[in-house]
Amino acid sequence: MAQGVYDVAIAGFGPSGAVAAGLLGGMGLRVFVCDRSHEVYDKPRAFALDHEIMRVFQQLGVAEQVLEFTEPFTPSEFYGVEGQLIKRFSTAEPPYPLGFTPSLVFSQPHVEQVVREHVASLSNVDIALGTTLTGMAQDADQVRLQLAEEDGTQREVRARYAIGCDGASSTLRGLAGIALEDLGFDQPWLVVDVLANEQGLAKLPKVSMQICEPQRPCTYLVGPNNHRRWEISINEGEDPKEVATPEGTWKLLSRWITPEDAVLWRQASYRFHALVADRWRAGRVFVAGDAAHQQPPFLGQGMCQGIRDVANLAWKLDAVLRGQAGNALLDSYGTERKDHVTALTTRIKDIGQLVGQRDLDKARARDARLLEECGGTVKSQPRQSVQPALAAGLLSPLAHAAVGSIFPQPWILRGGRKHRMDELAGRGWRLVTLDGTAPPATQDLRTVRIGTPDFNEAEGVAARWFAQQGCTAAIVRPDHYVWGVAQDAATLQKQLETLSQQRQPGDKT
Ligand SMILES: Cc1cc2nc3c(=O)[nH]c(=O)nc-3n(C[C@H](O)[C@H](O)[C@H](O)COP(=O)(O)OP(=O)(O)OC[C@H]3O[C@@H](n4cnc5c(N)ncnc54)[C@H](O)[C@@H]3O)c2cc1C
Repeated sequence: MAQGVYDVAIAGFGPSGAVAAGLLGGMGLRVFVCDRSHEVYDKPRAFALDHEIMRVFQQLGVAEQVLEFTEPFTPSEFYGVEGQLIKRFSTAEPPYPLGFTPSLVFSQPHVEQVVREHVASLSNVDIALGTTLTGMAQDADQVRLQLAEEDGTQREVRARYAIGCDGASSTLRGLAGIALEDLGFDQPWLVVDVLANEQGLAKLPKVSMQICEPQRPCTYLVGPNNHRRWEISINEGEDPKEVATPEGTWKLLSRWITPEDAVLWRQASYRFHALVADRWRAGRVFVAGDAAHQQPPFLGQGMCQGIRDVANLAWKLDAVLRGQAGNALLDSYGTERKDHVTALTTRIKDIGQLVGQRDLDKARARDARLLEECGGTVKSQPRQSVQPALAAGLLSPLAHAAVGSIFPQPWILRGGRKHRMDELAGRGWRLVTLDGTAPPATQDLRTVRIGTPDFNEAEGVAARWFAQQGCTAAIVRPDHYVWGVAQDAATLQKQLETLSQQRQPGDKT
């Protein structure tokens, strides 16, 4: 593609940058993405992902390829001080609300590769690997990124907007003067991935485990095929580097397996942090993914959060670049995502504190409390969605529990086969109603009438959602979050008028 001014330039081609490039490229925008490295990062990192992220992969057109590298998350059992079972989460049963298994395990490098290959197939996206972002300047019209090639040459790329997806030590975040706020978590952990052989698999638990022992809290996770993961806390006085050597790692794994049972795939020691960017936008520059937040991995949400960030930002950039929305829409990105990330990180820290309690008396009290809560006998609880709803931003002012939550994706029967709803309803703003609700003429909203021959549900997921929420119409944003709902034609009409005012292009950029 001829150079010039790109619509969006992205620093970092990790999962956040690759998904951002794929989404923006899929919208027909001119996109540049660079990464200082050529290869996908091959350290043990993301292991779990959820159905909301699968829905984004579906939008990219890679869901089926990604699914090949996933398996459903097994049940998780929590064990207390005396090795007793204190809590158990089971795998959710179908029908699934978003059209995918809600919780999946996967291997990050394989999935990143799938997304990268998809982005490489888009002719309107330029990818520069081995290219490091070193400087940035911006004015009222554009951002200029200074880049260093591996042979030492320097060049500049210009774009209307830039996104820093360049990871935890983001250069673009620093250049934009964005600081990180500390949410108060800092612990050293060893993370180990092994490929177990038959002998090893026979020895190992078939479910995932949180071992809440004060002397060394740890997590054991059952991954796809023979991939098994341990996250093991590092004790005071231990050297994280030494712990992460093959000898140090096997020593810590010896209570489960020996080198005869598995191959060490990769291991690394990390400091688990909880940090969030104070601002998510500085003029024409945005931060997303680990550049905007870092969280301990206890709920498997770091990468998911980064993908949520870019899914939130992409349609807003598209609308503004096409003159369909004003600059204020871009401010809603930081408002929505910072709140959401902060709320979810608080939940993650709570789990971290529950699992990682080092004080023996407090750990015993935790065990007693959890057992008391379930009447002395642990019952399996379905693993619930941990996602908070969006609390502020581009949402209806008419308060309702459904506002800011994710609208379901039912399976639809059409033409003799099952389709996920988004396949037929597309992306963009949608008005979804139950059959019988007559939608008034609407702006540029696509109307989806559940229950009509065109949108005949296979499992009743959407109908149940409307019944639970006590409404008959939902106005759904391009990122599938519910803007607002209505239970009668008059309220719906009012809601549509409010939305139309909110979406006025206003100040052009
Ligand atoms: C132990 C562990 C377990 C985890 N488990 C989970 C999990 O189960 N589920 C989950 O969702 N998440 C998990 N995560 C988090 C997840 O791995 C990260 O959140 C995710 O990789 C962040 O993606 P990113 O694209 O924002 O950043 P990164 O993956 O860090 O990518 C940043 C990219 O930017 C490039 N870059 C950096 N600086 C520059 C520069 N100056 N110029 C050009 N390129 C640059 C880098 O080379 C890199 O490719 C885990 C993390 C850890 C450490």
